[in-house]
Amino acid sequence: AFRDRSFLSKVLIIGTVSGGGLVALSDSGAFQRKNGAEECKKKKVVVLGTGWAGTSFLKNLKDKSYEVQVVSPRNYFAFTPLLPSVTNGTIEARSIVEPVRNIMRKKGMEVQFKEAECYKIDPDNRKIHCRTNGSSNLGGKEEFALDYDILVVAMGARANTFNTPGVVEHAHFLKEVEDAQKIRRTVIDCFERASLPSLTDEERKRILHFVVVGGGPTGVEFAAELHDLVVEDLPKLYPAVKDFVKITLLEAGDNILSMFDKRITTFAENKFQRDGIDLKMGSMVVKVSDKEISTKDRVTGQLSSIPYGMVVWSTGIGTRPVITDFMKQIGQANRRLLATDEWLRVEGYDNVYALGDCATINQRKVMEDISVIFSKADKNNTGKLNLKDFKEVVKDICERYPQVELYLKKKQLKTIDALMKNATEDPKKETMELDIEKFTKALSEVDSQMKFLPATAQVAAQEGAYLADCLNRSEQCEKYPEGPLRFRGTGRHRFHPFRYKHLGQFAPLGGEQTAAQLPGDWVSIGHSTQWLWYSVYASKQVSWRTRFLVVSDWGRRFIFGRDSSRI
Ligand code: FAD
Repeated sequence: AFRDRSFLSKVLIIGTVSGGGLVALSDSGAFQRKNGAEECKKKKVVVLGTGWAGTSFLKNLKDKSYEVQVVSPRNYFAFTPLLPSVTNGTIEARSIVEPVRNIMRKKGMEVQFKEAECYKIDPDNRKIHCRTNGSSNLGGKEEFALDYDILVVAMGARANTFNTPGVVEHAHFLKEVEDAQKIRRTVIDCFERASLPSLTDEERKRILHFVVVGGGPTGVEFAAELHDLVVEDLPKLYPAVKDFVKITLLEAGDNILSMFDKRITTFAENKFQRDGIDLKMGSMVVKVSDKEISTKDRVTGQLSSIPYGMVVWSTGIGTRPVITDFMKQIGQANRRLLATDEWLRVEGYDNVYALGDCATINQRKVMEDISVIFSKADKNNTGKLNLKDFKEVVKDICERYPQVELYLKKKQLKTIDALMKNATEDPKKETMELDIEKFTKALSEVDSQMKFLPATAQVAAQEGAYLADCLNRSEQCEKYPEGPLRFRGTGRHRFHPFRYKHLGQFAPLGGEQTAAQLPGDWVSIGHSTQWLWYSVYASKQVSWRTRFLVVSDWGRRFIFGRDSSRI
């Protein structure tokens, strides 16, 4: 009976994002008694992906009662925040990757890895269908299926082109290690080409025009790294063409780094202007051809053409086709990202978890809950709350949904925060009323515009760790099913829901200057923050090996400068 497959529970991890089925775990009974001894019946966990979410899940999963299989088209974890430094040779590509088998080996538990991509998830039969990665040396022919008890979908996202013609054919993306290596080679190619004697100055100007599309953190950091390379290192090697170099950053909105504090946005824009980086705000790219980018001014509608030598596209993330198909299958076709509940379970499938960039916590549900909290507080059904009650309600909501707090603080509640401060100073203002309908509308607008949690490594890693922790404690939860006191009455779940803890974010701006926005709206900008950035990123490395390599790459760059060989 112990060997019977029905007793074997497999945990399947797909990609690098891990998920766990809390209810599934507690319902399926992973432990059986035989001959008086408690024997562990292994659950099959399949993890799809070896990125931030999947690796964090793997690293934190400790319970040896799971049999884990990891499927991912790449057999390593990549430290993506340092990818922009790979594009200009500050850091070598191999310094930021860690073989996933190394991570698994150190766990001392049963984990298997398959270098393949999942092309179909079949939740009704608890199966995933995979094929070997077409772009690797393994070829694209071999297909296999794996069954699971728990599926962790952590496949991340792909670059979003908004279906702009010519982007896929002509632009570079900055998503994977290979992308960063390709960009590094292309920059050097541009300099070598521009140095050929047969070219006109007009052609040299075009070839050395580097265009970055997207003023988010990745686009800005890349532009800053590129600027450092073309100002600090390449002029010494290519003195004849150095005056032809130009960097342009195109942003469809009004500001770069719009998700950061205004002080950081302003500092970054001023710095880029001082550095000679041409910032074109309100510029929407409508087409990319082999030598030109066509843009449309958002306000005037005027069309322009920009000749370029290299274009890097960094305008956010889109859904992977396999996730889109899965969403169609499970009735989420109208959504942009795979929706989960606050326990990271895919809606309707208790044993399928989705984490990281490929998923989002269902906003509709969160909004419904918020409405209920409001209506309970609004006893007389007036649609309005006085400031005192409002504060209580906001406190309650933020306690339940810490993610909301982030958005409220950053986006909507700036004014309300100010009102609250005034109210404390002037008790008369306590009577000021706030329109609940307007407030929830504003909240849902923020909601519909963006992923409820930001698509960052920080969120993905915390989700992976949360899920692993839940799986680690599932046995304990079976023994004590009443769960945490707070949730005892609700009957919703015996685990606490996922809570994101925002630890702050960095925006490296080049020239050894970085901006940081830390919890409590604490903003720090400049050279000292760059040292904070060095220490945080060194400490966040996934292994001592990569930590050593990254720090020595920084040292090498300080002493010898960046390497411009085209290899
Ligand atoms: P990923 O890390 O993308 O991992 C996805 C995994 O799924 C990969 O292993 C992939 O190979 C695998 N996979 C893909 N398709 C399949 C398939 N069909 N089957 C199985 N597996 C599959 N975030 C920050 O917090 N701070 C930063 O400074 C920061 N800087 C960034 C800089 C750059 C250049 C980029 C691109 C991103 C940056 N991010 C940063 C964002 C961060 O990298 C992502 O939010 C994070 O990688 C998301 O983690 P994930 O596990 O969901 O996806």
